[in-house]
Amino acid sequence: MKVLKFGGTSVGSAESIRNVKAIIESQNERKIVVVSAMSGVTNKLVEISTHLQSQKGENLPSLLQELKEKHLKLISELFPDSETQRVTNHLFEMQFAQFEEVISQEYHEGLEASIVTFGETFLSFIFSRYLENEGLSNTLLDAKDFMQISSVENPDIPTVEKLLQETLKREISSDLYITQGFVRLDRNRNISTLNRGGSDYSATIIAAAINASEVQIWTDIDGFHNNDPRFVENTSPLLNLTFEEAAELAYFGAKILHPQTVSPVKERNIPIYLKNTFTPKAPGTKISSDVKSKGLKAISAKDGITAIKIKSNRMLMAHGFLRKIFDVFDKHETAIDMITTSEIAISLTIDDNQNLDRILLELDAYGEITVDSEHSIICVVGEDVINDKDTFRLFELLNELPVRMISYGGSSNNISLLVDTKNKVEALRLLNRKLFEKTVHTEN
Ligand code: ADP
Ligand code: ASP
Ligand code: MG
Repeated sequence: MKVLKFGGTSVGSAESIRNVKAIIESQNERKIVVVSAMSGVTNKLVEISTHLQSQKGENLPSLLQELKEKHLKLISELFPDSETQRVTNHLFEMQFAQFEEVISQEYHEGLEASIVTFGETFLSFIFSRYLENEGLSNTLLDAKDFMQISSVENPDIPTVEKLLQETLKREISSDLYITQGFVRLDRNRNISTLNRGGSDYSATIIAAAINASEVQIWTDIDGFHNNDPRFVENTSPLLNLTFEEAAELAYFGAKILHPQTVSPVKERNIPIYLKNTFTPKAPGTKISSDVKSKGLKAISAKDGITAIKIKSNRMLMAHGFLRKIFDVFDKHETAIDMITTSEIAISLTIDDNQNLDRILLELDAYGEITVDSEHSIICVVGEDVINDKDTFRLFELLNELPVRMISYGGSSNNISLLVDTKNKVEALRLLNRKLFEKTVHTEN
């Protein structure tokens, strides 16, 4: 069985959905298709939830109207026959009434996830009926029946596997299953999410749970590019990436993949193909364990980083000192991304500021603390990157921009630089020129 995931733009209009149908039809193997919400819908749902939370309801009726009309318009375009259109409209209206019931509850913390995951519920329903109407028989699965995931960072795949097998036994057997990305149930069986962009991760968790032959992630770009195309011109798609390279790039901000996408399939050696729904013939990117080439491959950047420096007059590297520092972060359940040390100081970065005040209060006992917020980690990735003949050029960046930290050696496929976020785009462009635009890459 294969798993195919289609992102927001791929299911964002009737025309795109017709492309998706053609892609599904062109492949014979049994499949589970994971869909996102239509593009823009999750943002709208977040807006609705924020309005409810702040009890500023004046824009609510128009937001609800826009949401409903967007889906009704899609139905009218996908179902030309008036009778099927009428029935689909009616069923959708019933689903929308359920949504309105959810939002009419008094706001509580758990409500947000129930609201924001409705985009996937709406779209998967319309999509499944559309395929059926076009002669592609399929079974719609409710992801809440099997995506029991207590920890987003560490999903228990055997539990998902067991629940998914039970679901498949219970539902009508098919060669084509449709389900929703993004949603999960937490340890108390309450509706939650895999965080924004989480449908990629839904796809790889499901692929791991059914031991799929491959995962295809269909989006609006022709594969993983060697730099962020939103900020840099002249980027190009990569034919191959290793699991490690892709994991590193995704974790350090490459928006094309949710940060945790790679881990469930890496352990089981299930390849991921990144493909463009709008140019399906383009080769895209294969992510697998094959090392096709070594050296510099790609750059990504992750924002929202806080750097903390602890400067001590005492012998900093004395035995036990680092453990005490790490214990503070551990106690406050805050992960450290980058770390560098010198004889008198240690610098480290975090991307989660929730417990920053408490952490700083405790660190105070160990020395003088400096905090720099609004930084970005720039991550230069490639197997054995340090031995690439062009890698030295990245240090030329130091002539042009202030760099707060540099780190290499945690793994042999990543060099990380920390810069002020206001210099991030310039840093990405400079690095692109220095590392990629000078050389002609024939094979990647
Ligand atoms: P989807 O809705 O299909 O999940 P996303 O918007 O989440 O799509 O991801 C695709 C987008 O990621 C691209 O349109 C592109 O702007 C952005 N992106 C950021 N970094 C990269 C990269 N290194 N390679 C390709 N796309 C990238
Ligand atoms: N619809 C969700 C989001 O916008 C999940 C996804 O698209 O992957 O974040
Ligand atoms: Mg995405």
